[in-house]
Amino acid sequence: MFNSKSAHAEEFISHEEILETLEYAQAQKDNITLQKEILNTARQAKGLSYREAAVLLYTENQEILNELYTIARELKEKIYGNRIVMFAPLYLSNYCVNSCRYCPYHVGNCTIARKQLSQEDIKREVIALQDMGHKRLALETGEDPKNCPIEYVLESIKTIYSIHHKNGAIRRVNVNIAATTVENYRKLKEAGIGTYILFQETYHKENYEYLHPKGPKHDYAYHTEAMDRAMEGGIDDVGIGVLFGLSDYHYDLVGLLLHAKHLEDRFGVGPHTISVPRIRPADDVDLTEYPNAITDEVFHKLVALLRVAVPYTGIIVSTRESEQSRAEALELGVSQISGASSTSVGGYVEKEEENSAQFEVNDTRTLDEVVNWLLGLGYIPSFCTACYREGRTGDRFMQLAKAGQICNVCGPNAIMTLKEYLEDYASPDTVKKGEALIAREVEKIQNEKVKERVVAHLQELHEGARDFRF
Ligand code: SF4
Ligand code: SF4
Repeated sequence: MFNSKSAHAEEFISHEEILETLEYAQAQKDNITLQKEILNTARQAKGLSYREAAVLLYTENQEILNELYTIARELKEKIYGNRIVMFAPLYLSNYCVNSCRYCPYHVGNCTIARKQLSQEDIKREVIALQDMGHKRLALETGEDPKNCPIEYVLESIKTIYSIHHKNGAIRRVNVNIAATTVENYRKLKEAGIGTYILFQETYHKENYEYLHPKGPKHDYAYHTEAMDRAMEGGIDDVGIGVLFGLSDYHYDLVGLLLHAKHLEDRFGVGPHTISVPRIRPADDVDLTEYPNAITDEVFHKLVALLRVAVPYTGIIVSTRESEQSRAEALELGVSQISGASSTSVGGYVEKEEENSAQFEVNDTRTLDEVVNWLLGLGYIPSFCTACYREGRTGDRFMQLAKAGQICNVCGPNAIMTLKEYLEDYASPDTVKKGEALIAREVEKIQNEKVKERVVAHLQELHEGARDFRF
């Protein structure tokens, strides 16, 4: 039975509730009056229920869709302004005991090179990332209690935070590791992680079990209840996501929104971020096996729907998406992107000789090229990590976000961290564009005291000081 406050996966992600929702939504496909009412609700930036979002997902009325995209753009602008937070993934280990059919790291793949970074390797990778200008990482590992135990992950986090090459620093480490115990989540919290990220892959239990035939990840309930354990372990910023294309996207969108509702109803705080990867070619993965793979059009519709359904949750896209697809997704609601990513273990220091990548990267530009491109589109590339370092996490963060106050710090922080990037890492053309954008953005700051402080800090940054934040 459906119960969003239940601790049991099959009750808070109720298969029957999803099917009923989809049936209901399909029946409203031509109900333009209802769809317009839902758009009016969306416009108020208070989010949509999973049923309302599902109704809009089924509509094919172009006028309604255009309006949806307009509202998504407006909410994006209102809540996130023009800043885009930058990050990079860091793959520590691709040993894995699971058998996910869509991932080349699956245990049965003998054609892939298995690697695990030593602490010395990690230092080299982190220095390479710092030398590009990155400040925020997402750690990635396969699941292997023997080759990649929690102690290794904890030690690696410590190593990453300890490295300061030239003016570089990694100030926020998000962690994307397999579902684990409350005790291990507590250890991750103590190690100072930012967000704990775990993709559900698909909420459809039968498909989930087919796609994960062996290994601990086969256990749908243990995987789906991971965020509950993370919250019990004290991690209050969690990031969810599905791999679109594994199952019917209508089903998985409703699943995602039910998961968000569950976290909100049970813990008082919804997900900090939602990631929207979609299935991509990779070693030993045959895309023809995935008839549910989604088109660009559907992908962007999903981004817009998520933006209006959960306006205060960050949306992340990776370099799986092409430059063009990312440009559109940024307009419709994405607030965080990765740049210059390597999806291989050790890939930032050494170009791949042996294949160890998790998926093919579509956007292969350097970080400077991505920053330059964002500036050209009028965005402020932000290297901000302030909230978690200021203790603005979980419900504290959400309250500020919902009260519209978080923008007051995001903007100035974006300006100051971009300035750091320009001083330390940017090419001359990026510096030129970046300085011009900063000058324009400073003028937009309405609070005179904040503006004065930002102007003073910009000068101090130019003179060599680092790491200012609101
Ligand atoms: Fe292992 Fe994760 Fe790949 Fe599955 S998706 S095979 S758990 S690395
Ligand atoms: Fe993110 Fe907080 Fe920085 Fe805004 S101020 S960009 S919400 S870390």
